[in-house]
Amino acid sequence: MRKITVRRTIDAGLAERLTRDLNDSQRAAVTAPHGYQLILAGPGSGKTRVIIHRVAYLIAGGVPAGSIMLVTFTRRAAREMVDRLGALVGPDASQVWAGTFHHIANRLLRRSAEVLGYTSNFTILDSEDQLDLIRLAMDSAGLSSAGTMAPKPAVIRHLISLSTNLQRPLGELVSAQGEALARWRRGIEAVASAFADQKKAADSMDYDDLLVNWARLVRDHPEERGRLAQQFRQILIDEMQDANSLQVGVVEAIAEEGSGCLTGVGDDAQSIYAFRGASADNILGFPQRHPGAGVHHLDVNYRSTPRIVAFTRASIANNRRGFPKNLVSAVSDGPLPLVVSAQDGQEEAVFIAQDILDARDRGISLARMAVLYRSHHDSILIQGELLARRIPHTIRGGPRFFEQAHIKDVTAYLRIIQNPRDIASWRRLLMQLPGIGAATSGAIAERLIRAPDPLAALTSAETMALAPARAKGYLAGFVMDLKRVRTADPVANPAAAITAVLAGGYSAAIRLLYDNPDSRLADIEQFAALAAKFDSLERLTANILLAGDLDAADPEKDEGDREAVVLSTIHQAKGLEWSRVFVPRLVEDGFPHGRALDEPEGEDEERRIFYVAVSRAQHELILTYPLMISRGGRGSALARPSRFLLEIDPCLIDRAEIVTELDEAAGRPGGGSPAAGRDEVKNPARPAKSALDR
Ligand code: ATP
Ligand code: MG
Repeated sequence: MRKITVRRTIDAGLAERLTRDLNDSQRAAVTAPHGYQLILAGPGSGKTRVIIHRVAYLIAGGVPAGSIMLVTFTRRAAREMVDRLGALVGPDASQVWAGTFHHIANRLLRRSAEVLGYTSNFTILDSEDQLDLIRLAMDSAGLSSAGTMAPKPAVIRHLISLSTNLQRPLGELVSAQGEALARWRRGIEAVASAFADQKKAADSMDYDDLLVNWARLVRDHPEERGRLAQQFRQILIDEMQDANSLQVGVVEAIAEEGSGCLTGVGDDAQSIYAFRGASADNILGFPQRHPGAGVHHLDVNYRSTPRIVAFTRASIANNRRGFPKNLVSAVSDGPLPLVVSAQDGQEEAVFIAQDILDARDRGISLARMAVLYRSHHDSILIQGELLARRIPHTIRGGPRFFEQAHIKDVTAYLRIIQNPRDIASWRRLLMQLPGIGAATSGAIAERLIRAPDPLAALTSAETMALAPARAKGYLAGFVMDLKRVRTADPVANPAAAITAVLAGGYSAAIRLLYDNPDSRLADIEQFAALAAKFDSLERLTANILLAGDLDAADPEKDEGDREAVVLSTIHQAKGLEWSRVFVPRLVEDGFPHGRALDEPEGEDEERRIFYVAVSRAQHELILTYPLMISRGGRGSALARPSRFLLEIDPCLIDRAEIVTELDEAAGRPGGGSPAAGRDEVKNPARPAKSALDR
């Protein structure tokens, strides 16, 4: 019998439309023949535009949309791609398998779950579910956290995930984390294995399992691999420099088995996810792994002004390795990138907030401005300033600062002193003491709030009788901590009180309570710096803590396109662009991140992160740094400007320093009311001109 297949002929009109708005090298990449194609080019050169147009071009050429897999790095990017594709090809766009690796893995595993011993209804565990199962696993491994100083479930979860993504043995990773954790190595390994069994028994997968199971499906089950190869005739990956070997291995195996059509798109100089196992070698090695692959370089930057492009190029030239790219800007010129020094972090934050408002007055919408930082704690003072001035902002890549568990812990200490009947705060902190669980903390808290002097009642024989013997020492320590906080007087001096919390047992406890303890401690130090602006806990609460809550209650807060400044980690800003970009806190140990420099090639990775940040700017780039860094209540230390600023040819930047007019009434810059001090920017190079009225 004859088998008839129908193939759509190329839609010439559409094909013409698709290639019209492209330059020659972009067009060559879009229309390149089926097979292995690599598009390796710098930021803003239209890589993402090319990949979308290539998908549309393939569809126009008769490739069924349902046989195309388009992998991107974030869900937001995937959504945007499908929208833009829809505008080009219409409803076919929704047939394309577009999404993150995890998203696509989930869809595929639904239909092949049985092969791996799951049902197609397997559950995806959210982070709370994961923690519950880890708790169970800790019980069964004899590591129950209630009675010991064992690491908390979140810490163990973080280590397990790290081991999966870096493809490194768990035990080895645990040992590398330092003394406190290393001695739990065997226990943690036992928990990991019990956790894996629990998940399997519950017919459920966590996020990492999706990836690992997809890889198993492809690697260990030839018939499944064949089926995937049959379905996906075209695979395209954007931001390939940040995929890890597990991810790249899966899609390459599918392409190899079937059509041999894989388009990799990326920029090795923007590879910034080494901590999750990404390596630029995946993209740089593409031509070696696929001999005969087409290689395309795009050399026009359509995003940034020539001066910004010159700056970014000069910066990345300091990296030893990397594929050289010489981008030429196609945008008309604007001002030089501006480097602004501030006296301290507070002044830096005031400057940024004020500059945002001034720019808005000049007609730049808030949504076209972004503050991009290295670590979350770099944004705390800025968040505080934006909240206090009621400047709408969205925070990406992390929770709102004041909603984070460790900040709530610290606030609980302050609240107990302010209001000793605050039962929720008592319970929260009591439960963190080793040996005290939910029931005991509830019983103790109930007793305390009825006592005439709750703090004194904490050490009474009756209270002690409620706690198990092993908890008594910790309870005594807790009382000392609370007394220290009380002496610091949180009601009148919240900053000193926060520092007093850090001086107590909490700094040690945080290592066992949460993942990333160092970064959380740095958060708390910044919290103290922010609190130093307020002369009462009440003012701090009203201006910052409550303002945060009000904002959180805003149902629109997560809508990406509302009129709001974007605050984002650089890692979450990949692929995006804004008219005016601020990169704050450019000091040694901050950016580059101190600990990252200890890693092999750490400086290069940090410089790539800086490169990603500065290459997000279309028209204006503002780089700021404080001269002094506040270490919470432990005073201030002199900061050194980041090497990323010092190594740049001074001709490529403008410099300015902030001069703060003291607010006489408050007696300190910006004291009392955050808007009280007015910061002026003086530009020593061009004294007549202020950055604020550029
Ligand atoms: P990144 O490396 O940051 O992901 P990219 O190479 O993916 O950057 P795009 O985001 O695709 O770059 O493009 C950058 C900007 O340039 C976008 O606003 C895009 O619409 C515009 N652009 C790209 N190519 C052209 C072109 N040929 N004509 C006009 N504008 C273009
Ligand atoms: Mg892109």
